[in-house]
Amino acid sequence: MNTHTQQIIIGVLAERATGERRVALVPSDIKKLISSAKFLIESGAGREAGFDDNAYVDAGARMADSRDILETCDVVVKVRPPGVDETPRAGRTLVSLGGHDPVLGDFLRKRSVIHLALERVPRTTRAQAMDVLSSQASIAGYASVLEGARALGVLLPMLTTAAGTIKPAKMIALGAGVAGLQAIASARRLGAVVHGFDVRAAAREQVESLGAKFVSVDADIGAGESAGGYAREQSSDQQRQLRRALSSHLAMMHLVITTAQISGRPAPLLIDRETLDVMQPGSVIVDLAAETGGNCEVTRPDQTVTVRGVRVMGPTNLPSLMATDASRLFSGNIRALLAYLLEGSGRLNLDASDPVSGALLADQNVARASVAAA
Ligand code: NAD
Repeated sequence: MNTHTQQIIIGVLAERATGERRVALVPSDIKKLISSAKFLIESGAGREAGFDDNAYVDAGARMADSRDILETCDVVVKVRPPGVDETPRAGRTLVSLGGHDPVLGDFLRKRSVIHLALERVPRTTRAQAMDVLSSQASIAGYASVLEGARALGVLLPMLTTAAGTIKPAKMIALGAGVAGLQAIASARRLGAVVHGFDVRAAAREQVESLGAKFVSVDADIGAGESAGGYAREQSSDQQRQLRRALSSHLAMMHLVITTAQISGRPAPLLIDRETLDVMQPGSVIVDLAAETGGNCEVTRPDQTVTVRGVRVMGPTNLPSLMATDASRLFSGNIRALLAYLLEGSGRLNLDASDPVSGALLADQNVARASVAAA
């Protein structure tokens, strides 16, 4: 029976996806939420990210196994989309990524699980603190520069030594959103000569404010952004013109970080084989759009493809490489989301007319749900 006095129980599952080292909630955030909810953490959930079981117990949580969590918890939290055996019971709530997967959406709806998919957190000022896409994109942008720099045969900074002077490497970020701007800032800190490009006019000022050069292209690509300020998809002819116009700029670059995305669509193709043919052998492309098809024609998710000496990397989970801080930021987003949805009485209040929970409930066939302790 539901009562108003019992505290809601929130469970955190360990991640099972290969190579996934992050954890959805870290001990310091549990400490901040412990007066509003009870927490069950799967043993070892935070180990790979540097948070051991004792730290969770010190924060007030209880350790449990996954079966116990799925049986007992009113809300189950994890980073990656759940596997079949990680599905909470009917009527319970799951908070995780997976909002772009219609098969998962159908499966969870059939099981009557309320899925608060993190991709649906609205990108508004109010919800900024809950936006895992932004926090993780920022880490991916930083990590892409380090990964790319390691694969390059040249140094990023200028170096003057008794043996001679080394010129700084040239870097460009294609797509200057959250990940691209962080890549620009990181490459600049490492001493590269940095460039940026985006179809949105507003990106120019942001690129330049980081000390990078905004690349202007001689192509008719139409209005780059929609009324909401987000990138608009180009026609196939505009995309072709853009590729040819970018080609001469890319021929001069050593490190290319591509981050161009159109929400809900395949990534735009910015680098084709014709461009790879004019790029310098030894240059490196890190394609952060690999998961949605890639910005480069030869990109393969989680592989490195070499064409005429140009290495094209397609990492799909760079935040996991920086698991400690990626988890801290992810957890901070989850804490902000839970704090917003939890009432003092310990209920999780979901209401379709609320700007945040309304967006999260958008495809749930649920107008209002008040998840209380079972
Ligand atoms: P994203 O990951 O969807 O796309 C990355 C970038 O690719 C975008 O800047 C987009 O303009 C660009 N792009 C798309 N097609 C392109 C093409 N053909 N060529 C070159 N670039 C192309 O975007 P994002 O990084 O998540 O965010 C984009 C913008 O939204 C940023 O300006 C960001 O500041 C803003 N934003 C606002 C909030 C908020 O207000 N809470 C949250 C997140 C992002």
